[in-house]
Amino acid sequence: MPVLLQPLSDPLLTHKGVELAVLREDLLHPRIPGNKWRKLKYNLQAAQEGGCETLVTFGGAFSNHIAAVAAAGKEFGFSAIGYIRGEETLPLNPTLAFATGCGMQLRYLSRSDYRLRQDTRFQAEILKSAPKPYLLPEGGTNLLAVKGCTEIVTELTAPWDMLCVAAGTGGTLAGIVAGAAGKGKIIGFPALKGGEFLRDEVTELVQAYTGRTYHNWELQTGYHFGGYAKHTPELLAFIQTFHQRHDILLDPVYTGKMLFGVFDLIRQDYFPGGTRLIAVHTGGQQGWAGYAQRYGLAWPTADIIK
Ligand SMILES: *Cc1c(COP(=O)(O)O)cnc(C)c1O
Repeated sequence: MPVLLQPLSDPLLTHKGVELAVLREDLLHPRIPGNKWRKLKYNLQAAQEGGCETLVTFGGAFSNHIAAVAAAGKEFGFSAIGYIRGEETLPLNPTLAFATGCGMQLRYLSRSDYRLRQDTRFQAEILKSAPKPYLLPEGGTNLLAVKGCTEIVTELTAPWDMLCVAAGTGGTLAGIVAGAAGKGKIIGFPALKGGEFLRDEVTELVQAYTGRTYHNWELQTGYHFGGYAKHTPELLAFIQTFHQRHDILLDPVYTGKMLFGVFDLIRQDYFPGGTRLIAVHTGGQQGWAGYAQRYGLAWPTADIIK
C-alpha cells in the first residue's frame, strides 16, 4: 500500500505559490508508526535470520523508539528489554505502561551508566543477561535503519522538489538523502539544540551506506524551541491550529517543530514560487499522552490522541 500523500490547502501557500503535501508515514503501520517502523523493518529481519530472541535497546522514559520496539517485539514474537534513562517513576507514564503492556521488560540506568550506552564493553556486559540478544542502538539508528528509510523516498511516486523531515539522531534524514540519490533537495529540522552536529553524523551514515557524498541536503537548526522535548506556547498554538485546519495531529517533539519551521520559511520566501514541497510526518503521536500529563496541557484531549 502506498503511503498517503495529503495536500494542504492554506491561504499562505496560495499567496506564495508553493505546494505543500504531508507524507503520512505516521499511518504506515497501525502499531509501529512512522519512521520507527522504517528503521526497524530490516533490523527485525536480521534478528530473525540470526536466530535472535530478545530485542535489547535504550531510550528515555517518553521515547517513541522504546514504544516502537516494544510493539515490534510483541508483533514479531521477540522478547524485549528496554534500558530506560533515569529512575523508575510510578505509576508508569503512558509510554512505559504501553511498553510493559506489550511485554517489554524495563530496566533503569542511572544517568552516568546511561552515558555508557554506546560503549562496547558496557553493552557486552548487559547483553549477558539477555537470551540470544539483538541490540538496537538508542533511537534505532544503524545502517539497516538507513536502508529502511531509503524506502520513504524510493516508494514515493508523486513528483516533488524538496522534502522536509524532522531529525533526532539523523538516521531517517540519512536514509532519505541516500534514497533520493542526488535528486531534489532535502531539508532536515533537528529537534535538539545544537543540531549542527548532525551534519557530520548524516554525512557519515550516507557515506557508509551508499559509499557516496551528496550535497543536495541541508539542516535548518533554528526550530528546536529551546531544546529536545521543550516547547513554547507559540509552538503548541501552531500544532493546535494545524490540527483544526488540516485534521492532522503533529507531535510536539519532532513533526510540530518541523512543520512550524516549514511554514516560517514559506513566510520568509525561502522557497521559490512553484516549489512542490513534501513534509514527512514521521509519527510520534504516542508521546502526547505523557507529554500533556507532564506539562499539564488541556489540549490535545484524549479523543484527539486516541
Ligand atoms: C524518532 C523520531 C524522529 C527522529 O528520527 P531520527 O532517525 O532519529 O532522526 C523524528 N520524528 C519522530 C516522530 C520520531 O519518533
